Amino acid sequence: MADFALNQAKQQGRSTFCFYGGEWREERDHTLQLEQGLLRAINYDELFLVYQPKLDTSNMRVIGVEALVRWNHPHLGVLAPTSFVPIAEKAGLIWPLTEWVLRTACSQAARWYRNEGLDLNVAVNLSPSVFSHQDLEEVIEKSLNDSDLPPDRLTLEITEQSLMIYEAEALAVLERLQRMGTNIQIDDFGTGYSSLSSLKQYHFQALKIDKSFVSDVVTSSDDAAIATTIMFMSKCLDMDAIAEGVESEAQKDFLASIDCRYMQGFYFSRPLAASEMADFIRRLPDDKKA
Ligand code: C2E
Ligand code: MG
Ligand code: MG
Ligand code: MG
Repeated sequence: MADFALNQAKQQGRSTFCFYGGEWREERDHTLQLEQGLLRAINYDELFLVYQPKLDTSNMRVIGVEALVRWNHPHLGVLAPTSFVPIAEKAGLIWPLTEWVLRTACSQAARWYRNEGLDLNVAVNLSPSVFSHQDLEEVIEKSLNDSDLPPDRLTLEITEQSLMIYEAEALAVLERLQRMGTNIQIDDFGTGYSSLSSLKQYHFQALKIDKSFVSDVVTSSDDAAIATTIMFMSKCLDMDAIAEGVESEAQKDFLASIDCRYMQGFYFSRPLAASEMADFIRRLPDDKKA
């Protein structure tokens, strides 16, 4: 029985939890190691942000950048957020992490403007649980004030889950944040349980079409239909739509054919270090401009 379970777990790969054998223990030790390291990471500058451009493909201008967190772990090297953001959420560390990201992203956007004349909107990802934090609005306001960044240069990317769990509460908070001047975009749109009624009640600035639909948009008629429907819906609701995870010219062309002009993805640029942004913008092809 135990052998059978162990084999099963092995076949499912290393990241699977297994209650037999040593793999589960390895996984648990790894999680513990990350959990213990995270607080140190937040306080001692082991985290850093990279920034991925969002483009208006009709004129090849950058409409903003998304801040994405990385952890330069002293032993494990650079870690992607998918390997530690869920741990931060479980360990109650997502709030200090989010505070750090907000502060850092706002001051970077202000620095780009001051030092390089780049007027960029910066987007920060907010996990659902931060909506229940009483200081969310205050910290956002303070990050903007301290860095002298106008509120309309900040975008908050939230998921459908935030709207689901904290529906009334989250909508009230979002409304106040929008009144403050920040932009709200719905991230990974289509992957969660959409509360269509909250889309109707509240005017978000944009829906981000999840990359899981974009990746096969050219070959899968289902994904093409989903992308087309999200485009149609965003237009009816007077919101923008941004396709994420665009990796090829064929995907870009298909999206353009359904009137999706805002895009983000490796085809245009990987997430960049702050110092690479000016160069990226300077090199954007003039011939593609409208
Ligand atoms: P997301 O907000 O949907 O961010 C987009 C992710 O897709 C990023 O991964 C980005 O690097 C990746 N991506 C962009 N273009 C392409 C492409 O063309 N192809 C493919 N395959 N991938 C592409 P990353 O940086 O690993 O972030 C993963 C997720 O972690 C994010 O998804 C977001 O949900 C979360 N995350 C990142 N930074 C933060 C943060 O500061 N706070 C919180 N709460 N979550 C964050
Ligand atoms: Mg995002
Ligand atoms: Mg996204
Ligand atoms: Mg996504």
